[in-house]
Formats: sequence, structure tokens, C-alpha cells
Amino acid sequence: MNLISQIKDKFNKNKEKTIIAPEKEIMQFDAVNMDINNTCNQRCRFCFSSFWDKPVNMDVDTFKRMIEVLPLVRDYAGGGYGFYLSCIYEPTINPNFLQCLSLLPEIAQRKCFFTTNLVRPMDEEYIESMISANVGLINISIESLDSDRFEYITQNKKFHHYKNNLGMLEEILKNKEDIPQFRFITMLLEENSDEIIDLIKYCQKHFPIISHEIRTPYISVYDNMKWNESQLMSKDKVDKLTEEIKSLGYPVDMDIKSVDDLEIMDDISKNHLLKRYNVIFMKRPGKDF
Ligand code: SF4
Repeated sequence: MNLISQIKDKFNKNKEKTIIAPEKEIMQFDAVNMDINNTCNQRCRFCFSSFWDKPVNMDVDTFKRMIEVLPLVRDYAGGGYGFYLSCIYEPTINPNFLQCLSLLPEIAQRKCFFTTNLVRPMDEEYIESMISANVGLINISIESLDSDRFEYITQNKKFHHYKNNLGMLEEILKNKEDIPQFRFITMLLEENSDEIIDLIKYCQKHFPIISHEIRTPYISVYDNMKWNESQLMSKDKVDKLTEEIKSLGYPVDMDIKSVDDLEIMDDISKNHLLKRYNVIFMKRPGKDF
């Protein structure tokens, strides 16, 4: 009996009148990932971004066109959803950054977020403008609170700016109610592993954050892979640290790999590389590789 006959048979048996209608659903993109510039004011050793020789900053008119798509994007609901105002570069170094933020409509509060390293020189007015915009979530990177270590990891001698901005942000947030959500993100490295617990406690104590993400760097086909690999810890050390983090009882999102995961990741990397070449083949038909 085919499917239609089965349905007819079921209705006849139950003698019910049933109307089946498809559920109405708004068609939206899960996410829009963008950047408003193509470079960064740091060169973190673990970073996978390629930095362009010629910096380009999105102008305000282009940004206005971008935010027209906001109603077509799903609300932020964790990674993979929402309107990423910045993806892989540092948005605050675009001179139009604050003006762009000020243009975000109210609907962006549910959808829009960005990540900043908080390193560019800021004053109170700058921070006030940044956190008063219609942004739902601000992620802040925090790799170390030790100046030498910070500058080694980020390859940027601007720890004093970072520390100053962090302090100002803390003070401003104490007296402000209507604020975006905040998250900290820390790259767990062998280099800063002895500081992770203190960093989590510090962020929890000083900021009204919804969570703290702790993750290890991507191990893939990037130029800095050897350095990233050297920063992975043994499984025993990872297990111990993970338990310690859990015992703090704070909302911490962990995505932590150990050296033992390298073999599996190696295969994934190779597949990833192959897929990338497939894309190149498809984009250049007729070429003899
Ligand atoms: S701050 Fe972010 S974008 Fe800039 S170098 Fe570091 S990881 Fe890369």
C-alpha cells in the first residue's frame, strides 16, 4: 500500500476529519558572518587569521546596507546563529566603528554581537558608546593579566592599554543597568595554563558575565600550527584542569584539546585540506592540475 492509500485508510478507519497544514515558519539565515575591517592591532601567536598588507575599513554607507539584512537573520542562540559584526579581525580599529554601532536598530539587540581584544586606546566616552549601542553580546579576549606573558602571547606591547580599558569597563558597568551581555574568551595554552583558574575567578568577580569560554587553539593547516601544537597539554594535565574548572561552579564553556587528540585532529586536518583543494578545483574548471 502506498503512502496516500495508507493515509486514506487511516482516516477512513478513524472516521475523523483532519486537516494537515504545513507549519508556517519565517525563512531566515542562521547567521551572517562579517567583518568591518581586514586586520588587527595584535598578532597573537595562536591566531589563524591572515592579515592583509593594505588595511581596509568598511565605510558607514556599506555598513548601512549590511544592517538591512538584520530582519533576515535568526536571533543569537550561541555559536552559529546571529549577526556577527566581527568574525576574525578586530573591529575597534576601524575608525567608523562607533558610528556603525550607533546605527544598529533595536532589533540588533537580539541578533548582533562582536568580539574585541580591548587593546586600542579607549576613554570612558568610547566605552560608554560601545556598550550603549544596540548590541546583544560583547565577547572580550583575555589571555593573561601578566604584562610580559600578555605581550609574548599577543606579540603586542600594549598591555597597559588593555589593563586600563578593562578597569574602566569594570567601573562603568558597576553603574549601568541596561547593558549588553558579556562573555570572556581565553585561549588555553601551555604558556598561560597556570593562570587559567585565576583568570576565571577574576572575570567572575569583576564583571557581570554570562559565561567564560576556555578553549585550545585550532590545529589545522595554518602557518602557526607548530606553535599551536606545542601549546597543547598532556591529557592528564587537561583532565586535572578541567576538573578544577568545573569545581569552581561558574558558567564556563570548555572546548579543550590535549596532545592525545592530535592524531585524530591530524586526520581531520588532512580531510580539511583535501576539501579546500576540491573547492579550488571547482572554482577553476578546465585547469589541468
Ligand atoms: S586579537 Fe584576535 S584577531 Fe587579533 S591577532 Fe589576536 S586572535 Fe587574531
